Amino acid sequence: MQVRVRFAPSPTGFLHLGSARTALFNWLFARNSGGKFLLRIEDTDKVRSEKRFLDEIVEDLKWLGIDWDEEIVFQSQRFDIYRAKAQALIDAGLAYREGEAYIFKMEKGRVIEIDDMIHGKISVNTDEIKDQVMIKSDGSPAYNFCCVVDDIHLGITHIIRGDDHISNTPKQVLFYEAFGATPPRFGHMPLIMGADGAKLSKRHGGVSVEEYKSEGFLPEAMVNYLMLLGWYPGEEREIFTLEEAVKIYNVKGMSDVQAKFDIQKLKWMNGEYIVKRDVKRLLPLVKGILQARGFDLSGVDDGYISKLIEMYKVRMKTLAEFAALADCFFKDDYEVEEKGAKKHLDNESNKANLMIFAGELASLEEFKHEKIEAVCREIAEKRSLKAGDIIHPTRIAISGKTFGAGLFEMMEVLGKEKVIARMTRAAT
Ligand code: GLU
Repeated sequence: MQVRVRFAPSPTGFLHLGSARTALFNWLFARNSGGKFLLRIEDTDKVRSEKRFLDEIVEDLKWLGIDWDEEIVFQSQRFDIYRAKAQALIDAGLAYREGEAYIFKMEKGRVIEIDDMIHGKISVNTDEIKDQVMIKSDGSPAYNFCCVVDDIHLGITHIIRGDDHISNTPKQVLFYEAFGATPPRFGHMPLIMGADGAKLSKRHGGVSVEEYKSEGFLPEAMVNYLMLLGWYPGEEREIFTLEEAVKIYNVKGMSDVQAKFDIQKLKWMNGEYIVKRDVKRLLPLVKGILQARGFDLSGVDDGYISKLIEMYKVRMKTLAEFAALADCFFKDDYEVEEKGAKKHLDNESNKANLMIFAGELASLEEFKHEKIEAVCREIAEKRSLKAGDIIHPTRIAISGKTFGAGLFEMMEVLGKEKVIARMTRAAT
């Protein structure tokens, strides 16, 4: 039997991490077994469904590397079918009308057993379930009903989704029965929680894929992180490409306990992928991030930005961090650390040393980092200073920061004129 799975988002909001994870596991399941992964848009709520959300969801999936087979199915185009299917259940004596609404009669005293791929046996007594609306009085179908109509139509064999759907599953199983169809295998994943154990929300560092994209997380890192949220690959290694995950994916490795979202770990992972990615491929992303943050890049050449990315690659966990770390290379009104400035620049001897260093640099012909460093060390030696006595004030003078890439490289990239101007400004 060929595996057929689907991802069924509602375009009523942006793709959030939990949904992206659901899509990912269904996709891994399909690709691992040579099956099909379908995309169905659950846009039955015409008021809340919006084109911009749909576009964003589609774009985010592609960005993550999740592709789908066959044509996208839109529930909004299938209302006639749902009504006909609901009518068929009325004709079979399993449902009734109440005004415009079509309602499914719940049989009492039945025990519905679900053999969940992740949780094992789940059983529910139908006494706990009310009659189910199939078509609402406004003519739109109810989720549990149209979901089953479509899953049967699409030949879906397995459904992996969040635990929040567990209570829907017995209702859906009853619709399969009513249509004389075999239900798919269900697997419900425990939801993603924040580090504090509360449901994942904005304060844990953002919930939509979009937010992570614009912070400069790389898609490889996002999918790698998401796949480890609730799945154990069977080995301690943590860095996996999608291709590698496809090969070893097994639903048996899915966890039945809640996964904790850990932004620090995601950042760490992103840093690993940034270091690995070559500068050429980082360049357009970094430029996008800088522009989105209001940096004026007109007249700034790619070679200059590339050089900076090379210097800062190991220091940034997200591309947005680059914008904060390297702002002094793009503007003169860069952020200045107040404490650092007070410590290193608010004293006469440091200011004097800065002026001496700036003076020596003025006559330096080749403004290369080795030469700049030699000048710095020479002054330190002559004046019985530690190199740090010159380095720290210089760093804060030219960049506003107490940390960053190697100081002499930074000076070389900034160029003589800017460096001397900033040192002089800081010393006077
Ligand atoms: N539209 C539903 C959701 O986004 C789909 C649930 C399902 O996979 O059946 O939660």
